[in-house]
Amino acid sequence: LHTRTVRSGELFARAAAVMPRGVPSGFQASDPWPTYLSHGSGATVWDVDGNEYADFHNGFGVMCVGHANPVIAAAVSERMALGTHFAAPTEGSIVVAEELRRRWGLPAWRFTNSGTESTMDAVHLARGATGRDVMVKIEGTYHGHHDAVMVSVKPPPDRMGPRSAPVPVPYGEGFAPGTAEATRVVPFNDADALRAVLDERVAGVIMEPAMMNVNIVPPVPGYLEAVRAACDEAGALLIFDEVKTGAAVAAGGATELYGVTPDVVCLAKAMCGGLPGGAVGMTAALGELIAEGRVKQQGTFNGNPLTMAAAEATLLRVLTDDAYRALHAANERLMAECDRVIETYALPAHTVGMGSKGCVVMSPEPVLEYRDYLTKIHHELTDLAWLFHMNRGVFMTPGQDEEWTLSVMHSGADRQRYVDAFETFAREVTAR
Ligand code: PMP
Repeated sequence: LHTRTVRSGELFARAAAVMPRGVPSGFQASDPWPTYLSHGSGATVWDVDGNEYADFHNGFGVMCVGHANPVIAAAVSERMALGTHFAAPTEGSIVVAEELRRRWGLPAWRFTNSGTESTMDAVHLARGATGRDVMVKIEGTYHGHHDAVMVSVKPPPDRMGPRSAPVPVPYGEGFAPGTAEATRVVPFNDADALRAVLDERVAGVIMEPAMMNVNIVPPVPGYLEAVRAACDEAGALLIFDEVKTGAAVAAGGATELYGVTPDVVCLAKAMCGGLPGGAVGMTAALGELIAEGRVKQQGTFNGNPLTMAAAEATLLRVLTDDAYRALHAANERLMAECDRVIETYALPAHTVGMGSKGCVVMSPEPVLEYRDYLTKIHHELTDLAWLFHMNRGVFMTPGQDEEWTLSVMHSGADRQRYVDAFETFAREVTAR
């Protein structure tokens, strides 16, 4: 990689003098250095060395509309000419909120600027509505970078304690005292473990309906229903973090796919078509808490007109029902091709997919939760596959513990580039 990205290496040397690890955000860091991109079009991105890549990283799953999609570009340019920011509401925000209400079936919506803000607002709602203090989260899950959820995000094995009583491990340093103590951690896909920690102190349970940061870990049948029932019984709010799944996997996200409705849903990423933005959807009673000013929800850029123009074009004109059908079909075809490669070369792997997203999991057996991910996955193969793809013009999330995301602009030829890189990888690793 480093011989193909010499100019990135030069930019890295300059960047590292002004930005820690040479990147604007931690998750963009990579070894030997990040690949600095110059531009993108459709399913293709180019780096500053002029290398061309088929993009399966897709901006951490944001760009389901494709890069420089003409519909989004026109909507944003039109809005740009009419003024980009007032911090007064515009009609665009109403249109987007109505569309989100239609898609998720939740009546009340507010806007944010990122997934972090969406989950932060959700935690405030849970604590505000119940008057309780403890949050329950799933071991291994990332919900953004605010205190309440920066606990047991990929905890190191030597600190996470036994599976029957996971220890809440702070993610980094710099938290107010008591942060980890106010959080209980349970493994995904284990309703009994969840029921065991629910008591009168628990304000809410925050979870991704399918874990999306340890490849993809779908819920086992009945799990989300059991979680919903357990929260109701305990008087705790159920929060679905659909920042990653959301508009990327179906019109109504994982909520629609699995048929379980939370009290609060957190959105960001794909819903705004590449502009920074997010939303929180909630029950009428929770909306009332905000309306009364008991739980505060605000922000200078919330519902920014430029973001709303992009979101409106994304949700109403690009990610239509037909587009979701096409994305699902394309994803199925890509997974089937990867399955064929896995079988041909007897790789210890399987595929998992959901909507526009999928991945090759380097484990012959299914992964059900974070600890499974640590022990069952062949991590060296995963890293090697990432390098193979990058070197063969297939752009992937750094480290490849995530998943690919297809856009409406990915063609069969783009998918073939992924399959070819994966097949070369499979052939070469199994030949040794
Ligand atoms: N929740 C989930 C599930 C995420 O994957 C992320 C980001 N990867 C976030 C929240 C935080 O979103 P943001 O980076 O926009 O703050």
